[in-house]
Amino acid sequence: MTLYHVQKCLAEAPRESPFAVTTLINAIGARSRERRYAGLQFCPLCLLEKPTFVRSWRLSFMTICDQHICCLSDRCSRCGSQVIPFQCRQSLTRCYRCGGMLSRMVDVSVGRALLYALQAQMMLSQAFVESVPLAGRPVSPPDFLRGCAVLLHAIKACLRTKQLTGPWGEVSGEGPRLEYLSVQRRVQLFALLGWLLENWPERCMAIANQIGLRQIHFEPCANRPAWIVEIVEQLTPRSRPPRKRWTATLTKGVRTIESNGGASCRSERAAVLLRAVRDYHGN
Ligand SMILES: [Zn+2]
Ligand SMILES: [Zn+2]
Repeated sequence: MTLYHVQKCLAEAPRESPFAVTTLINAIGARSRERRYAGLQFCPLCLLEKPTFVRSWRLSFMTICDQHICCLSDRCSRCGSQVIPFQCRQSLTRCYRCGGMLSRMVDVSVGRALLYALQAQMMLSQAFVESVPLAGRPVSPPDFLRGCAVLLHAIKACLRTKQLTGPWGEVSGEGPRLEYLSVQRRVQLFALLGWLLENWPERCMAIANQIGLRQIHFEPCANRPAWIVEIVEQLTPRSRPPRKRWTATLTKGVRTIESNGGASCRSERAAVLLRAVRDYHGN
C-alpha cells in the first residue's frame, strides 16, 4: 500500500501542511485508534468481486471506478463509519464498527460530474507514466501533477463559501484542503478540473474572470510549474506588495546586534526582544 511513486513524482514540492499531508494523497487524520477523515476509499463492486483494497484508492483524484463507472465510497453505507481494515474483527470487506458489508452498493448520484471527473482522473493517472500533452506541448509528470493541485487549491480559495455551477456540475469552495474532503466533494472539484483541461487555457481564463480569480489566490502555493505561471501572470495582480513579516525584521535586527558584539550586546538584544514582545501583546 505504499505510495512512494507518488511522493517521488511530487518530490520537489515542499510539505504545505504541518500535519504531514502529502499533496494528492488523501489524509486519514489518525489520532491513536481514531480517524478524523475518511481517507481510504473503495469501490463496493470491486470489493464484491475481489476482497482487496487497491493502492490507487488512496489518491485524492481517484473518485470514479474505471471498471464499473461508479463513484467510489469512503464510508460504511449502514453506519457512516470510516474504513479501518486493521480493526476489522471479521472480514476486510465488512465495516469495523457495525459489521455491515462494504460491498453493498449505495446509489450516489454525481450526474454530469462523473464524465469530467473520470477524464481528469485518467489524465492524472497517465501523468505517472509519461508527459501529458496540454495546449499542444508536453508537460512533465511532476509539473502536471503539481500544477493541477495548485490550480484546485487556488480555485477553492477563491470560491471559499460560494458555489459555482457549470457544464461539469456544481462545485463549492467550502471546507478544508482537498486531501481532507469526502469523495462526493472531490468528484465535483476534479470534474471542474477535467472540464478546464479539455480546452486549456481558454476555459481556465473564462472561469478566472467569472469567479474573480486573482494572483493572490495562488500565493500560498509555492513551486508553481511554468504552465500555471503563464496563467497566473495574466490574472489581476494584488494591489499592494506583500507586507514583510515582522519576525524577519526582528531576526535581522537581533543578528546585527550579535555580530556587532561589545559589552552591551546582551542587554541591547534583551531590550529589543522585550520591546518586540510588548508590541506583539499590546502592553
Ligand atoms: Zn469497481
Ligand atoms: Zn458500519
